[in-house]
Amino acid sequence: MDTARLRRSSRSPRARARVPRCRLAIDARGFANLATQLPSPNCDDRPEGCDIALIVVHGISLPPGEFGSDAILRLFTNRIDPAAHPYFAMIADLRVSAHFLVRRDGTLLQFVACSKRAWHAGRSSWRGREGCNDYSVGIELEGTDTLPYAGVQYRMLARLIRALRRRYPAGAVVGHSDVAPGRKTDPGPAFEWERLGRLLAPKRRGPRSG
Ligand SMILES: [Zn+2]
Repeated sequence: MDTARLRRSSRSPRARARVPRCRLAIDARGFANLATQLPSPNCDDRPEGCDIALIVVHGISLPPGEFGSDAILRLFTNRIDPAAHPYFAMIADLRVSAHFLVRRDGTLLQFVACSKRAWHAGRSSWRGREGCNDYSVGIELEGTDTLPYAGVQYRMLARLIRALRRRYPAGAVVGHSDVAPGRKTDPGPAFEWERLGRLLAPKRRGPRSG
């Protein structure tokens, strides 16, 4: 056994271990290579010739304020047990989804291909254009409006946005609260837009050589 290698591997940061290091990419059918696929029936076709111009960031936790269970996965795949929690009985009949979920540990799940319309934004409008589901990709972060989101979630979100922008003209990134004001509050004041902006800013390089 190479002891130098052993030392190196034992130093690898545990917190990041679950986030794959290879490049995140969206294929031509709209699937992310690094996402665990969990297909949701809650989707349909986008309108003919519709551009994918917008990314909508959400926050979700089920039950509200609790993390780590499979309840979000169950909600998006119509398998939530209404008897398992009083809150679940209220939402069991919802037919909703998002394209992606980034869990607290940075794990990326995909429920709907980006080429399809996921049902995440509801009644919504952006710059006077109604029905954001038609032309957006919905990304859920596991979290609440008031608890800090995890650093690993910001990093995965930024990687995902970069990958989406390489595939689609999805320039703008907004919160659910921006496209459904008065009706929705997520991702909430806990979400640090400046932090996301820093992660998405072009990397500074050394002095130009010519
Ligand atoms: Zn939302």
